[in-house]
Amino acid sequence: MREYRLSKSKILSGRQCPKRLYLEVHRPELAELDESREAAFTTGHKVGEAARRQFPEGVLIEHQENLGQALRETEAHLVCKGSLTLFEAAFRAEGVLVRCDVLRKNKTGKLSLIEIKSSTEPKPEHDLDVAVQAWVVERAGHQLREIQLGYINRDFLYRGDGDYAGLFVYQDIRQAVRALFPEMPGIVRELKRILAGRTPNIAIGKQCFEPYECPFVHHCWPRADYPVINLPRIGDKVYELLAGGYADLREVPPERIRTDVQKWVHRITCSGKPELKPDARAALEELGYPRYYLDFETVSFAVPIWAETRPYEALPFQFSCHVEQQDGHLSNTEFLHDDGTPPMRAFAEAVIKAAGRRGPVLVYSPYEKRILNALAERFPDLKKPLSAITARLVDLCALTRKSYYHPAMQGSWSIKSVLPTIAPELDYQNLEEIREGGAASAAYLELIAGETAAEHRQTLRQALLQYCERDTLAMLEVARFLQHGKRRKRSA
Ligand code: SF4
Repeated sequence: MREYRLSKSKILSGRQCPKRLYLEVHRPELAELDESREAAFTTGHKVGEAARRQFPEGVLIEHQENLGQALRETEAHLVCKGSLTLFEAAFRAEGVLVRCDVLRKNKTGKLSLIEIKSSTEPKPEHDLDVAVQAWVVERAGHQLREIQLGYINRDFLYRGDGDYAGLFVYQDIRQAVRALFPEMPGIVRELKRILAGRTPNIAIGKQCFEPYECPFVHHCWPRADYPVINLPRIGDKVYELLAGGYADLREVPPERIRTDVQKWVHRITCSGKPELKPDARAALEELGYPRYYLDFETVSFAVPIWAETRPYEALPFQFSCHVEQQDGHLSNTEFLHDDGTPPMRAFAEAVIKAAGRRGPVLVYSPYEKRILNALAERFPDLKKPLSAITARLVDLCALTRKSYYHPAMQGSWSIKSVLPTIAPELDYQNLEEIREGGAASAAYLELIAGETAAEHRQTLRQALLQYCERDTLAMLEVARFLQHGKRRKRSA
């Protein structure tokens, strides 16, 4: 029987689901990797770099491809006398290869292992993650004195001076990690056996999304025009329905549906006829004019780059504001701060100007309110006008949720799901460059990066403006539809 080698990530995949491990090794082409994975990878990379800066004496063991060389270099450093810090130290034992984020050796030769995570708190899955590494390091003949987890300190305030001391919190997890050691030989044996066999017969279940979304969901989950998982707030009940043989919502008997919203979605999906309740009309008629349609784009950094900001703080850099008059006349203000300096102050001043003084300000989530409140706290001198905007906010999403459903929305009231059912020509899929918020953040980071060529910056700028404008136009179309039951001609 062929003996397969394992790595930490393979062991974690195998513990999540044996089939996932098997497919990763034998059928990697079936994996679907979305953009959020790439963003998470980039964040992890930045966090790793920041962690290394905390140990300026550290030596990086490179050779990502040449693992034999990485193993030799690690050993060569460890036999040297005196203290040292290694990044990406490589160890192999029992057919398992691991690389350690940070490994420190003190003057007496005792070793400390530090695993760096970009999360803001320890998570249960981190114990096994670190246990695999620590177990391999010790099986390779090196006793660990300390085993720590370093994660992001959400309260860290960056002063803009390049000093990131305090960005990480280090927690001793020796006990939890060592408690897993007795299980490790059995885990490794079992996963090697799985790899040498046939595709494991594993039923889909919670493990498909926990602790991480599996890249083979598209391969394993049954295909359906209206998948049952799209029932709002279905949670773990989805597995009962799937186990009962119901993959498509239209096959599910009404008595198996629980909440009122689910019953509504089920009824409309089965009938194929969208429904617009009359209360939306009354609520919108009360709003009056002028109406402002406002949407923000934000960016956040695990490792802050601007002074007076914290890790993962949502920082607004762009907005679009459409203003609709009673006679249907429409105007648009757009703002995009793109010189790489902190955008928050200019953003706050511009939004105050764009949002005028009277009339409802329609947004499509509670997010804009959160951002306005954060700006008011950041700039006390602007608190009054920012709070005045907040007081005028109307959440159009909440109203849509109560009043409108179309089978094509697939259980979602996001603006991207609602819009194609009302104004198909404005579907976000028609946008060429940016179609969702994650891509907008990524484009913005590219836009402000010093090395981006001028021509490409112009393309990114246009794409961002087009995307944000689409959001507020979409809201306008949705509001008009809810109020009039049909679309109204726009006039600019
Ligand atoms: S989708 Fe679910 S069942 Fe399929 S490999 Fe992934 S975790 Fe396993």
